[in-house]
Amino acid sequence: MSPTPSKPDNPFAQMIQSARKIVAFTGAGISTAAGIPDFRGPNGLYATGAYDPDLVFEIGYFRKHPEMFYRFSFDFIALLKTIQPTFTHYFLARLEKEGRLRGIITQNIDALHHRAGSARIIEVHGSFWRAACIECSRFRKEKATLEWWDKAMTESPRAPVVVCPHCSGVVKPDVVFYNEPVKGMELAESWVRDCDLLLVLGSSLTVFPAAFLPQLCRSPILIVNKGEVSFAPDRNHIFIREDLDIFFKNIADYIDSQL
Ligand SMILES: [Zn+2]
Repeated sequence: MSPTPSKPDNPFAQMIQSARKIVAFTGAGISTAAGIPDFRGPNGLYATGAYDPDLVFEIGYFRKHPEMFYRFSFDFIALLKTIQPTFTHYFLARLEKEGRLRGIITQNIDALHHRAGSARIIEVHGSFWRAACIECSRFRKEKATLEWWDKAMTESPRAPVVVCPHCSGVVKPDVVFYNEPVKGMELAESWVRDCDLLLVLGSSLTVFPAAFLPQLCRSPILIVNKGEVSFAPDRNHIFIREDLDIFFKNIADYIDSQL
């Protein structure tokens, strides 16, 4: 009998394998890897000059002039149709199906976690995955797919502004605009307090609520980001400066080699 070749240890894979209540917090970095450039960056949607970055997510302006937001949405949905969830999105969905991951808290509005098959997602800034009429309570769209948005914006009598079939009021996606409260924080906080491993992925941890949530965690925190991350040094915090997909492909290879 020949000896089994020993595989190099992967301590991070072992952390994930032994955890049962992982919570993942994801920021813009996981979406830029999918091909969504930072809105404000040189290749971002704002660079076209077609919409004013200060007004596009301003709720008062939206109520009076929804056209600008919908011009942005039309371009954003067209962009989303060209991209797919990343390996990391799919890996998190796999961890949930295996009963290791309790849920995902994300700042992203692109619904890529939904598309990857994750079920328990808190979108603190909302997303395009739901929509509702801002005038009446009769119109609500759940699971608003890219195809639904495309059709709704193209075929609307006020195209690209989507209007309510009952009252002709403006339909607003469930995206958090400036000065609107973030969503699901109470639940997000309870998840983080109760998790046995917190993954912080693609976030620089500089703005609320990213900067705040990890402070509630009493378990190990694994932070993976390509760029700099701001956090107070703590023996429970491990920061890995690496590409997310490369990091999780290594983890997946290790886990699969154990099966
Ligand atoms: Zn309505």
